[in-house]
Amino acid sequence: MRGRELRGELDAFLAENEQDLVAFRRDLHMHPELAFAEYRTTQKIADRLTAAGLHPSVLPRGTGLICEVGSGDGPTIALRADIDALALPDEKDVPYRSTVQGVCHACGHDVHTTILLGTSMFLARQAREGLLPGRVRLLFQPAEELPGGALEVMAHGGISGVDRIFGLHCDPRVDIGQVGLKAGPITSACDKLAIRVSGPGGHTARPHLTADLVFALAKILTELPAALSRRVDPRSSLSLVWGRVEAGSAANAIPDDGIAEGTVRCLDEAAWHAAPDLIKALLESVASAYGVEATMDYSRGVPPVVNDEESVQMLAEAAERALGAGAVVPTQQSLGGEDFAWYLESIPGAFARLGTRSPGGLDHDIHQGTFDVDESAIGHGVRFMAATALTALWEGHRPGQVAEPLAELI
Ligand SMILES: [Zn+2]
Ligand SMILES: [Zn+2]
Repeated sequence: MRGRELRGELDAFLAENEQDLVAFRRDLHMHPELAFAEYRTTQKIADRLTAAGLHPSVLPRGTGLICEVGSGDGPTIALRADIDALALPDEKDVPYRSTVQGVCHACGHDVHTTILLGTSMFLARQAREGLLPGRVRLLFQPAEELPGGALEVMAHGGISGVDRIFGLHCDPRVDIGQVGLKAGPITSACDKLAIRVSGPGGHTARPHLTADLVFALAKILTELPAALSRRVDPRSSLSLVWGRVEAGSAANAIPDDGIAEGTVRCLDEAAWHAAPDLIKALLESVASAYGVEATMDYSRGVPPVVNDEESVQMLAEAAERALGAGAVVPTQQSLGGEDFAWYLESIPGAFARLGTRSPGGLDHDIHQGTFDVDESAIGHGVRFMAATALTALWEGHRPGQVAEPLAELI
């Protein structure tokens, strides 16, 4: 089976299953679960995979699962979806609003999960009909937001024997039916930084007899990002942005400690490696100027997702095949972090941005309580993911071998 037939097969599959997939997504949306607590979600996916005749295997912690479809000696392609939600209140007024207070699928992982489920069901059908020239490893990964779920999947053999891996993410700035692609780095490194400052405390009438901790903290908050902009190559786009700050309890008392937390994002690997030492040195110099003590807790996050060029070409072919000419749009490297990067440090693959905006509609950003998608993105996503797996399998070669010209396959 090649491109033309695939479109007809997908049409028939979605005519039968699209409504049900939308209902599945809404159920997940109403019952979001945080990183490494996705027990219900895991069970729901496992039930549906089993009903499709597949044999899912739940990861040892009880959240997330791996499943394989197909057999034979062909290549093995992995498709990955993340299944966790965010600790954010759902601010939407919709019938499928989150029923869990303070937890919401505001990053669209319910949509990714549903797309991979639909893709799994379609591929299971193809395998039964002898139309799958290889194996597809389905990775329903827990805890992307922590991050760390990718490492958990890898620790349990999730990508051993896999030749290429693909994944996607909702993009509310791209229209439905379109896919944003880019070779090379597409997301950024993202680390977390927590600092604590301490001093003797005292009366606000006599700052000179103690250390004016709130003033010093404010200096640190503004000076660190400013100094970094002059100490690091601007092309690395290293950026420190604070998200939380806390100090003091009374208007006329200088507190004896305070904290600030933020993220460090970076497009460039060299600058990413240098960041912790540089930030520590800057922090110590500003703190000492105002007589306070400062300590830093720096947590390394994920490296940038760096897309393999040949894999991006496969995504582009798949998008044209499944969604039509003009489906591929360019996308830029974002400052967002994504733990899919861990897979790409070991095997080639690529990550795509799936359009989820109604044409002319609002684009509520991800990680906002108002985030939602045009649900027709689910059908488009299934078409795209299924076509991606098949395109990569049809190529019939492992990375490093010579590909037959893709045009011949259409
Ligand atoms: Zn997210
Ligand atoms: Zn996400």
